[in-house]
Amino acid sequence: MDKNGKNLDDLQDLNRSSIIRHLAMHEGCSRVELAKTTGLKQASITKIMRALVENGVVAETGFTEGLKGRRSIGLSLNYSKYLVVGVKIAWERLSAGVFDLRGRVIGDIFSCSVDHLNLANAGEAVRRVADAIGKFRRRHPNLAAVGVAVPGPFHREEGSVYITREGSGDRVYFPLLEQIRARVPLPVVMDHDANAGALGYWWFRTNCDTGMALLYLLASEGIGGGVVSRGRIFTGQRGHSSEMGHMVVEFGGRKCVCGGRGCLDAYASSIAVEGQAAKLLAEHPGSALSGTRRLGIGEIFAAMRRGDGLARDLVRDAGVNMGRGFASLIPIFDPDLVVIGDLMAGGGDVLLEGIDDALGRFLSPFYKKPRIVLADPGDDLVLLGSAAIAIDHVYNHPTELLMPDAEAGRAAARPQEGTTRK
Ligand SMILES: [Zn+2]
Repeated sequence: MDKNGKNLDDLQDLNRSSIIRHLAMHEGCSRVELAKTTGLKQASITKIMRALVENGVVAETGFTEGLKGRRSIGLSLNYSKYLVVGVKIAWERLSAGVFDLRGRVIGDIFSCSVDHLNLANAGEAVRRVADAIGKFRRRHPNLAAVGVAVPGPFHREEGSVYITREGSGDRVYFPLLEQIRARVPLPVVMDHDANAGALGYWWFRTNCDTGMALLYLLASEGIGGGVVSRGRIFTGQRGHSSEMGHMVVEFGGRKCVCGGRGCLDAYASSIAVEGQAAKLLAEHPGSALSGTRRLGIGEIFAAMRRGDGLARDLVRDAGVNMGRGFASLIPIFDPDLVVIGDLMAGGGDVLLEGIDDALGRFLSPFYKKPRIVLADPGDDLVLLGSAAIAIDHVYNHPTELLMPDAEAGRAAARPQEGTTRK
């Protein structure tokens, strides 16, 4: 049951959280500006800032030109006093890194390949992730939280991932979050990889406009999606929302891995494009793709860049199908920014041309076409996003995770268990 009531401690934490969030997006702002934007009284701001500065969470960074030309003291978050760990669990690879609160990588990234994640090897994957975090902790004792991005289907409330039993098509939910928490003595939070990517892009690749609605399409071997609205991930009731890969773009169309037909995943994922290439190659003996040993998406993009007609058509078609999907998604989510990330972002201008063509034909003129951009295909937004969900958690619980002295005082003032239960 959701408990909506707030004790005085919770309110203090909430106010600290909104100040920290504003500072994270407006470096160098003054106490007067904070009072204006948060709606807190100047005296409250002064009191909260004193605690934040004393605990080293915020630093005073010299004078800034304030309101009415008055000079005031600029404030900035101390982005490296505490660090977070971001973990990306993909079907065939585990990666992890330490990040500061600006999303910058500190030190080396841990990365290893695994056999396709299934019930038999999931425990081993958990052990490897926990060992990597243990090594990070020895080098960085100031870790505040761990964020983990996982592939879907993901049950957000239970923190479990739907994986196969080895050697069979059966799928079961594996309690990944619970297992990692049992081995890692830090707060651990988990989200779907596409949600993490969306939040990572919003936090670290835009100017963090809280009024912005961002729609992120994680277009890789499969397709996922995430929506960030008012700086938060849109989760739906149980966290199953934004599964954009399984939106139907062609009724009764190609069979999809989910068991359905006509899903976007079956038309615009890298595996779908590779499948189409293999199918159409016999009809295009002159294509540069005929000579390639491996018909992977990298080879298809390379042939497209060299002007190969078949490769260009395949990528453009993938774009047209994404555009068909967006023609449905734009009226639902009303985004101002659509970001296409991961492997398929390598389709570049040809992919965008296909999207534009479809939107011109299928999107009602009533709706404003959002800005559509491709993320840098080399930018691991899901790993960055795993750090972003950890940072988001830290910003939601500043007293506990950034102010250990204040938290110790708060814990001492709480009634002892046992006395409250009697
Ligand atoms: Zn599907």
